[in-house]
Amino acid sequence: MPLLFSYGTLQQKGVQVANFGRELSGISDTLQGYVVGEIEIRDERVLRESGKAKHPILQFTGNMKDEVHGTVFEVTESELAQADDYEVEDYKRISVRSKSGAQCWIYAESKSAEYAGSCLCGAVRFEVSGAFDSFYLCHCRYCQKDTGSAHAANLFSQSARIKWQSGEEAVSSFTLPGTRHTKSFCKFCGSAMPSIALAGMLVVPAGCLDTNAALVPTAHICTSSKADWSLELGHVPQFEGLPELQGAR
Ligand SMILES: [Zn+2]
Ligand SMILES: [Zn+2]
Repeated sequence: MPLLFSYGTLQQKGVQVANFGRELSGISDTLQGYVVGEIEIRDERVLRESGKAKHPILQFTGNMKDEVHGTVFEVTESELAQADDYEVEDYKRISVRSKSGAQCWIYAESKSAEYAGSCLCGAVRFEVSGAFDSFYLCHCRYCQKDTGSAHAANLFSQSARIKWQSGEEAVSSFTLPGTRHTKSFCKFCGSAMPSIALAGMLVVPAGCLDTNAALVPTAHICTSSKADWSLELGHVPQFEGLPELQGAR
């Protein structure tokens, strides 16, 4: 069942019954990287139903020391759709990981997310305002080739906007003939860079972001073509820094 993090009135039994016709079961949890702010509601219906002009809203800060305490509830898909109908445009439902590790939905300010990013050499700098809709780890052969790694890690948004601060002219793109596979990169250092895909979809490689964003991958995709060497990576030894070089003198 989907999980929904609530820090507000949905934690009251009466509000749960009024909204969903039943009491919800949930456990206490904490959301990091957000604060609770306020927005002014202009939607007539919400104004009438709530009787309040100002509503609390989750605002993204990216600072993991900012914490919001609340409850994670189990809801059904149809209850989630119902909650979507109630929320006005200022709110956007996004998937996050709570402090306890639960993957849950939150309603956050749709304009609050601001991400900064850059390439390795620093020629290209950009800002993204808005929220991401999904975050896919793609294991297809094209993504293996163009990243030189096990998978690509791309964030997608239909609504977020990108503003280039420097080096937009240094961003080159390659589209594999006969496919929709496109890669944008800095022509000086080769770093993966954001691009606009079909239908205006903004695609941002997660690794080029400098903002410490509390983003959680939505899914691994195209796993049927996973590289053989990436199947059991959980068992590989880990070093916090570089390992001692074998045979170094
Ligand atoms: Zn560069
Ligand atoms: Zn791919």
